[in-house]
Amino acid sequence: MSEFQIDVNVVGGGLAGTEAAWQIASRGLKVALWEMRPLKMPPAHVSDKLAELVCSNSLGSDLPDRASGLLKAELRLLDSVLLACADETRVPAGGALAVGREQFSEMVTCRVENHPYITVCRQEVIEIPEGVTVIATGPLTSPTFSDAIAVMVGAQYLYFYDALAPIVTRESIDMDVAFEGARFAHREGQSADYINCPLNEAQYKRLVDALVGAERMELRDFEREDPHFFEGCLPVEVLAARGRDALAYGPLRPIGIIDPRTGRRPYAVVQLRQDDAAGTLYNLVGFQTNLRWPEQRRVLSMIPGLESAEFVRFGQMHRNTFLNAPELIDSTMQYQSRGELFFAGQLTGVEGYVGNIATGMLAGINAARLVKGESLWKLPTETMMGALAHYVSHADVQRFQPMKANFGLLSPLTQPARGKRERYHLYAERALASLSQYIEQYRDGQEEK
Ligand SMILES: Cc1cc2nc3c(=O)[nH]c(=O)nc-3n(C[C@H](O)[C@H](O)[C@H](O)COP(=O)(O)OP(=O)(O)OC[C@H]3O[C@@H](n4cnc5c(N)ncnc54)[C@H](O)[C@@H]3O)c2cc1C
Repeated sequence: MSEFQIDVNVVGGGLAGTEAAWQIASRGLKVALWEMRPLKMPPAHVSDKLAELVCSNSLGSDLPDRASGLLKAELRLLDSVLLACADETRVPAGGALAVGREQFSEMVTCRVENHPYITVCRQEVIEIPEGVTVIATGPLTSPTFSDAIAVMVGAQYLYFYDALAPIVTRESIDMDVAFEGARFAHREGQSADYINCPLNEAQYKRLVDALVGAERMELRDFEREDPHFFEGCLPVEVLAARGRDALAYGPLRPIGIIDPRTGRRPYAVVQLRQDDAAGTLYNLVGFQTNLRWPEQRRVLSMIPGLESAEFVRFGQMHRNTFLNAPELIDSTMQYQSRGELFFAGQLTGVEGYVGNIATGMLAGINAARLVKGESLWKLPTETMMGALAHYVSHADVQRFQPMKANFGLLSPLTQPARGKRERYHLYAERALASLSQYIEQYRDGQEEK
């Protein structure tokens, strides 16, 4: 693939790819970083800079007891070059880490291009490279390369749009109103897989009106112009606008559900389905949506039982190339069928700038460790990085959708906490202690003591 001697190829000079390349080069290995811009531009990018931020200039909360803040603290512990550049180019944004967009990408580009072990190759990659390789071509992977990935993994495991329904924590659902049960469970003895929020006619009508009237996110031109977008998977607000009864005959149909408190079938029902193995997170079935996030909170809190719901993910629908990662990769970010190949970034089903940097870092560290004959890192699920890697490698294959960092992914605490803030604080403390211990135990060039 190249004339100069290299140890690892990294495909894609976005957030995940540049962090991966840096981590590999920092471990004394030679890297070719392949980036197709500016020769070929994905529809959302505007520059030739590495690690371009395609939308917001905010990398999310920097508070230590927020999920995104914890992930940043972990990345700093592991010497992330992108976090260092973000810290150096930060602009005032309260508790969030926002950056001067151009300065950030400029600084990353300058550092990466000047690294003696990194060669940046401005070329579109159209085939899966030979040898140890990290693939991080992102949500807008070029069509030719997407085809090559689809041929390798199987077309049924590569998706081009996400359709995220909001997720709430189980403990924030009011179970004095909601109840467990599956459709026809009373008749057929099925297990109670769902949590059901019953609505009477007036509540249903208010919800439909609110959904129809709520403010929506602006779609990008390339999404609006794509005739396949939303096909077969309508946003809940679009379905609601098709007529008063559309939801009651669709995802909110009450058929086969009896409210144990009244002994009757409700007028409509919102079902929530378990989203993680630990049973701490539940998604609202059929509520994929493009409403603005504050509007989602306002409107969905009108659902009986969700008045005080804690949202760990809001819904969205975007153009997004991603793998059915749990079917294909391990928590080391390695492709199961070819151990020399690693995936990173949004392609693996991780959401958000910082989550993508994190998977780039893990893939980069492990690619370097593989070349050096060291055991690969499987980070503990008490850490946010480890929990994200675990999610994308172990989530439900049938319903896999991208996820951003959130506390619901971490393995549950063993000690009790008084309220949400204390719980988050304990999670964060445990995560950083666990990561420090792990780094100490598995330092580069040294195996478990
Ligand atoms: C329109 C849009 C808006 C978003 N807004 C936000 C936001 O505001 N906040 C947030 O947290 N997240 C946002 N995201 C989600 C995500 O965090 C970012 O897309 C993030 O940049 C993904 O990181 P990545 O490294 O996986 O991909 P990218 O950063 O996109 O990097 C992939 C790189 O690979 C290159 N490439 C693609 N194909 C090839 C090829 N065949 N050969 C060589 N190079 C190739 C691309 O040019 C690109 O530079 C957004 C996503 C999209 C699509």
